[in-house]
Amino acid sequence: MKEKKTSIKAMRIRTLNFVMILLSCVLYIFLILATVHISTRCDHMLEATNRYIACQENAALVSEASDDMTEYVRLYVITEEAQYIDAYFEEVDTARRRERALEQQNEEHVSEKAHNFLQKALDWSNQLMEKEIYAMKLTASACKADMEKLPPKVQEAQLSEADTNLGKEEKLEKARDMVFGFEYQDTKKQIRENVEYFLNDAVDWTQKAQANSVWALRRTMTQQKIFISILFVQNIITFILIICLIVKPLQVYVKCIREEKRLEITGSYEFQYLALTYNDIYEINAANEAMLRHQAEHDPLTGIMNRGAFEHLRQQLKASAKPLALLLVDVDKFKLINDGYGHETGDLVLKKVANLLVENFRVSDYPARIGGDEFAVIMTDVTADMQSVIEGKIYGMNHVLQNPTDGLPKVSLSVGAAFSDNGFTDELYALTDSALYQVKEHGRCGCRFYKEKE
Ligand code: GH3
Ligand code: MG
Repeated sequence: MKEKKTSIKAMRIRTLNFVMILLSCVLYIFLILATVHISTRCDHMLEATNRYIACQENAALVSEASDDMTEYVRLYVITEEAQYIDAYFEEVDTARRRERALEQQNEEHVSEKAHNFLQKALDWSNQLMEKEIYAMKLTASACKADMEKLPPKVQEAQLSEADTNLGKEEKLEKARDMVFGFEYQDTKKQIRENVEYFLNDAVDWTQKAQANSVWALRRTMTQQKIFISILFVQNIITFILIICLIVKPLQVYVKCIREEKRLEITGSYEFQYLALTYNDIYEINAANEAMLRHQAEHDPLTGIMNRGAFEHLRQQLKASAKPLALLLVDVDKFKLINDGYGHETGDLVLKKVANLLVENFRVSDYPARIGGDEFAVIMTDVTADMQSVIEGKIYGMNHVLQNPTDGLPKVSLSVGAAFSDNGFTDELYALTDSALYQVKEHGRCGCRFYKEKE
């Protein structure tokens, strides 16, 4: 068995299973990593978008705060109403939208360059603030406003000597010129341009960040598609291998077992090993069964069919309806052989008679030992016209037995025979036995056929 086992050249289910589990684990790990990577990249994209939105908000805060301050200072120099100064300093000291925008921008980390643009815009705005406060001071001075009530920054602003000496209208005109003039407009333009540069830079940065993420996303998704395709192919291969190595061999084995045949050597290593083991046991069982059947059907002394097998055959031939002949053969005065030469010699004589029957009759005839010194021969496909042939055979056998060359004592056979055109009929045995009786009665050593008139 060991020799057979090593000669099996087939895939082992255990190995296949191990490889498939390993491959699946590797692919699933890659898939999980790819999914995590995709999720991270999506977060990055979202983050970039949120940063851009924050940049837009910060840019809007700087622009709106600067414009509101311009609006308040202009309204003050035109209307001279103190409420506009208050609104102006409410923005500068409390709302502080421009500073807040820059502080928030520090946290966003878009790019150094963008941050610098916003800082510049704030610087320009602060530069403008000095002019605006000076213009407010000039207006307040022209209107003879109560300096004590003005915000500290306006109080602190010092008018030049030349401006102090100006008349009311001149002061007002100069103040208006300071907040409406070209110089003021230029600085406002600088603020707007820097906010714009800041936003353009934020857009560039966001686009780059998103492009990076998109590229990485595409690459990871392609990898994911490849892993899923490999998993799909792996599954298909697994199903095919299961069918080839397990399901089909099982079907073949069930068929072989039902048909009581040896198992085909097919399928995986394990199944082939199973088949080889089964076939070994099958052969041992078949040999045992054949031996038992032979023992059950054959006479142990002579090796020809025994009484049981003869009766079984007789039952089968009852239904055949074919022509046949039955011969009953008895050794004459056999007791004397036993008594005179011993039982062992008697056995040898019985064997010799059986051998003669086998040799003289056809393969299609059935010689059997049906009693102590009693034999029977069933001849199939035989009709009455074969009578002389049968007589010749009996004569030949008696001649051999009467002229022994093997040292055994002389013996002779009495044979009764009968034909049937219709299988092994119920009365055939009795008819043949009566023919045998006739031979025994008429001197033995010979053959008689049953005739109805007898
Ligand atoms: P007949 O001519 O009338 O047949 O006389 P016979 O002596 O042959 O008488 P019978 O047929 O009745 O005797 C059969 C004898 O065969 C009786 C028995 O002792 C003997 N015998 C039966 N079986 C065996 C056997 O297996 N071996 C031997 N040696 N003798 C057996
Ligand atoms: Mg006898």
